[in-house]
Amino acid sequence: MSFYITTPIYYVNAEPHLGHAYTTIAADILARHMRQRGEDVFFLTGTDEHGEPVAQAAEREGISPRELADRNSERFRDLVARVNATNDFFIRTSDPQHERVVQEVVQRIYDNGHVYAGTYEGYYCPRCADFKTEAELVDGNKCPIHLIVLEREKEDNWFFKLSAFQKPLEELYAERPDWVTPQSRYNEALSFIKQGLNDVSLSRARLRWGVPVPWDTSQVIYVWIDALLNYYTALSYAREGEDLTDRYWPARHLIGKDILKFHAVIWPAMLMAAEIEVPKSIFVHGYLLMDEHKMSKSLGNVIDPFEVMDRFGTDTLRFYVFREVNFGGDGSISAAGFETRYNAELANEYGNLASRTLAMIGRYRDGVVPDTPADEVLSADLAGVDARVREKLDVVDITGALEEIWTAVRRLNRYVQDEQPWKLAKDESAADRLDGVLYALAEGLRFVSVLLHPYMPESTGKLLEALGQPDVSYSSAAFGSAPGGARLGELAPMFPRIEPAAAA
Ligand SMILES: [Zn+2]
Repeated sequence: MSFYITTPIYYVNAEPHLGHAYTTIAADILARHMRQRGEDVFFLTGTDEHGEPVAQAAEREGISPRELADRNSERFRDLVARVNATNDFFIRTSDPQHERVVQEVVQRIYDNGHVYAGTYEGYYCPRCADFKTEAELVDGNKCPIHLIVLEREKEDNWFFKLSAFQKPLEELYAERPDWVTPQSRYNEALSFIKQGLNDVSLSRARLRWGVPVPWDTSQVIYVWIDALLNYYTALSYAREGEDLTDRYWPARHLIGKDILKFHAVIWPAMLMAAEIEVPKSIFVHGYLLMDEHKMSKSLGNVIDPFEVMDRFGTDTLRFYVFREVNFGGDGSISAAGFETRYNAELANEYGNLASRTLAMIGRYRDGVVPDTPADEVLSADLAGVDARVREKLDVVDITGALEEIWTAVRRLNRYVQDEQPWKLAKDESAADRLDGVLYALAEGLRFVSVLLHPYMPESTGKLLEALGQPDVSYSSAAFGSAPGGARLGELAPMFPRIEPAAAA
């Protein structure tokens, strides 16, 4: 089965920040998980580069829009690499291959009779690169997002007949109740559609930095239309000499809630107009809010994602944001919250379990995992974790799946406390029992690490190597599915505790 997952493409004018990292990591977790299951995965991210804000910023700096886009796109490419994302392609909307397919699709929308010439008059926010209705404005004439005063603009544009797709969109929503999730976002998009749709501008007249309208090169295609099409165009040229469209389309989109209208209303209508299949699904996530009041002694009061990755490893950021905030909703993160979860969960519950288990097998069994059946009660408790994680990730419940895994980590810690292997080691008659306990711990660590692998690829990779069981395929993700007998390797301390900085 093919699995095509996308992030929004990031606007090159922005500074790369935690929000960009958040969506990229989420998509990466899903991509890595589906690869574990042997699915044919394609993971796309990239940069959105056209439009007025880029043209204006370039003019201010006295460089060409192309130079600015080249420079800034590189920063997002760096961010994607920095969070360990395994994207299969990085699209740039200034790629000539993208521009060519955008023109083809827009021409098809035109040929199918869904475009007409008109005059746009209304408020335009250059920072959003979006027109605003009177109802959306705040304080009479300000952008509701940027709170800047907007000018009333008037220009001759080509228009897309979005209004003609009201009924087809309503039918799409009726037929596919899980097309947009979570449910609250589905309801929001549907109610927007039911209010009645207005036609939207498909082109801009005064701008040069964009894709020319194929039948009227005095205009460029509106940046949102151009950008949305990236999900479709990328497949046509991501692999040299190969068109992947039939293999991977339609896509599954991950987006932030601020771009819901574009993805859940305008985008499917554009695809219908071009007679292209609409996306498989759209998952909408919320915002990570910074709680600056919960200070950490060692990290200060604001989390800098780059500092966290530099000091504690990329995995810790990947873990923390999905552990702390339920993916889909809004939630607060804080430096103190990071420190607490790091010490309590990564250092104590996972890292310490790993180092103790390896040390005990080293000391009591010469570093070879006993080959013996696992404890039955523990086996019963840990049965089905892999299936539940899979079910949750199938509906993009990234936090729920992590909770399932962490419940297993805690069960293993309780098992150590209950069994007290260091006591069994002093009793010769308990040798079989100790074999069983040590096997169960090594096997427990192994299977939770396979399940955690999409979240924390680096540290779980090292631990699985040390356990002599590097296989991360999903068929090995059940407790008890790997036999004993493996010889352990070395493991550097995984998550050394954060000690509070000495008071100044
Ligand atoms: Zn705005």
